[in-house]
Amino acid sequence: MNAENRGNHQFSDADLQHLRRCVELAAEALDAGDEPFGSVLAAADGIALAEDRNRVSGGDQTRHPEFELARWAATNMSPEHRATATVYTSGEHCPMCSAAHAWVGLGRIVYVASTEQLTAWLDEMGVPAGPVRPLPVNDIAPGITVEGPVPELTDRIHALHRRFHTGE
Ligand SMILES: [Zn+2]
Repeated sequence: MNAENRGNHQFSDADLQHLRRCVELAAEALDAGDEPFGSVLAAADGIALAEDRNRVSGGDQTRHPEFELARWAATNMSPEHRATATVYTSGEHCPMCSAAHAWVGLGRIVYVASTEQLTAWLDEMGVPAGPVRPLPVNDIAPGITVEGPVPELTDRIHALHRRFHTGE
């Protein structure tokens, strides 16, 4: 984790608008019985192009929104547009999604909560570790610009994960 990732970054109003939408999508996922994660893909001009939320409750644990958005970008965007796009997300990309993001040549990532934060929350709740090591994006894809966490929204994401795992 470099200094830019420590939460003292200033986020623009446009960034925060997309990040708030990610939180809404995470809440929608939770209401549908899925894990509380949501993501928005925005073009260089700030216009949202696509969004998705976690959809793993059907049994396919690869149905992460960041993975869906990477595949959407590969199908629908030129390499030039992908490189200047930003993916906003409620939680930092997992290794699978980091790899997909990098392989399709997408640009910046901005997340509300870091993998480090999520891992600490899950530990506190006694949730067993998953089958994939919880590495930060830049350990998987060193060339991607990554910004976060976003302190003003992190508590809301923490609350959604608490509700998912403990029902509180
Ligand atoms: Zn993922």
